[in-house]
Amino acid sequence: MIPVIAIDGPSASGKGTVAQRVAEKLGWHYLDSGALYRVVALAGKKRGIAWNDESALATMTGGLEIRFENGEIFLDGENVSAAARTEEMSRGASEVSAHPAVRRALTDLQRGFRKPPGLVADGRDMGSVIFPDARTKIFLTASAEVRAERRYKQLMEKGNHANLAAVLADLQMRDARDQARKVAPLKQCEDAELLATDHVTIAQAVQAVLDFYAARQQI
Ligand code: C5P
Repeated sequence: MIPVIAIDGPSASGKGTVAQRVAEKLGWHYLDSGALYRVVALAGKKRGIAWNDESALATMTGGLEIRFENGEIFLDGENVSAAARTEEMSRGASEVSAHPAVRRALTDLQRGFRKPPGLVADGRDMGSVIFPDARTKIFLTASAEVRAERRYKQLMEKGNHANLAAVLADLQMRDARDQARKVAPLKQCEDAELLATDHVTIAQAVQAVLDFYAARQQI
């Protein structure tokens, strides 16, 4: 079986950066599953399909040509990396991802990323739904305040106008929606290791994931 490291957790926990670096260190493939939901929200907006129209979105999703290349994401041949990472698409992704039919339409696509020598996948349901047989499952998190501060700094560095209280409120709203939805809610799987990143650096978190993986190899 091709090995998978599944890293799940809430927004701005640092899981994307950690997952990417773990994949680089191991020389494995990397799946940013959140980007897929962002692209679905973006494609819906471009085509005039409302984010609450589950069946139209699911039909549309089945026909999208989504491709990753060197960390960039392409939709029907167009580089949409920046357009998919806006705060508007964070909200859109959170809304479209609550629809079971949309999640189903993305399942096979996500499983297709499992290729030799291995895959590091990050998202909300990597360990619970998409790769339940992953040997290493990590639930990577941090307090809402720490995550909001990180997101706020990122936005300011990119030259965006941001307000810390609004960023925190937005993050808490998305956490609540991701946790409360009926399909694939955000939660720590029973067999996932908890990794809290409030007081650790990215390098330490990467090392902790590699250590969990190495420890699982010996079981
Ligand atoms: O990880 P990221 O913040 O890019 O994800 C955007 C949104 O996509 C999340 O708030 C969540 O609602 C949704 N998502 C999901 N399942 C995943 C990955 C992301 O529902 N595996």
